[in-house]
Amino acid sequence: MTAKILDGKSIAQRIKDGLKAEIEVLKKEGSPLKLAAVQVGESEASGVYTRAQKKNCEKLGIDYELTILDEGLGQKEIIEHIQKLNQDDSVTGIILQLPLPQGISAVEVQSKIDVGKDVEGVNPANLGWITYGKPRLIPCTVAAVMELIKAAGVDLYGKEAVMVGHSDIVGKPVALLLLNKFATTSVCHIATGERGNLAEYVRKAELLIVAVGKANLVKGEWIKEGAIVIDVGINRVEGKILGDVEFEEAKERAGWITPVPGGVGPVTTAMLLRNTVMAARKEEKENG
Ligand code: NAP
Repeated sequence: MTAKILDGKSIAQRIKDGLKAEIEVLKKEGSPLKLAAVQVGESEASGVYTRAQKKNCEKLGIDYELTILDEGLGQKEIIEHIQKLNQDDSVTGIILQLPLPQGISAVEVQSKIDVGKDVEGVNPANLGWITYGKPRLIPCTVAAVMELIKAAGVDLYGKEAVMVGHSDIVGKPVALLLLNKFATTSVCHIATGERGNLAEYVRKAELLIVAVGKANLVKGEWIKEGAIVIDVGINRVEGKILGDVEFEEAKERAGWITPVPGGVGPVTTAMLLRNTVMAARKEEKENG
């Protein structure tokens, strides 16, 4: 079997095209639509992200405003800036660039972002809504994973799903969303790997999602025939970008697979735009 490719670029384009009509409605109503990005200190990596955010927003007609705060500011001052944005009616979405300088707690600052403007879905309240089966604004990568699963056309009810990686903003929320849809969900992490049990879990997965950050951690020969494989990992190895799954080998066994690059990444970008529009529309519709 050779897997069908879940082409993130074309899925992302379809999502962005779909947003245009919603944005037009907001503009006609005279409703504000602005994404405010907050960066603390200058960094090469943040610059790459914020330039891409600006370009993507401008293409769709979303206002974008970046504030670069002084690196020497303390947590209190950063929170004060966030609170100013919370109160500004012209700002409909807020994104906090990571990493923050040492000594500043990202979770503490994220918890102060207005729940309705939290377009990255990182406020603990928005993450908590996932537990209660009422996802609203959810982390963009998590939304991308769910969108790619949807594109594969799988009914999750009773499916054997395995999530490799249990980070707070990818692995854990994805696992909860799968549970909400009644997939029989296993979560693997460092201890699974250390006990040598990772292959055993992967082998039974009808749906496999990997978000670890270790190139080729999951061997192609472990993949169940016909499985859906979503590879979130991004690893730079000798000038190349690789995922967490051995792509060429896995492709020969899987039913559907995401490439790296060109899979989860572009859909994540589209999900930030979708969350931004959702926030501006003050929608409480189910997400994920
Ligand atoms: P993270 O916070 O570092 O989490 C990695 C997870 O993998 C942790 O739960 C860790 O467990 C687990 N892990 C480590 N070694 C393992 C092993 N040998 N076997 C099983 N599990 C293991 O990373 P993240 O933020 O979730 O991101 C994961 C990857 O996705 C990274 O490559 C990142 O660059 C990529 N990413 C891509 C996108 C995108 O848009 N495409 C977005 C976000 C992230 P412990 O915590 O127990 O050590």
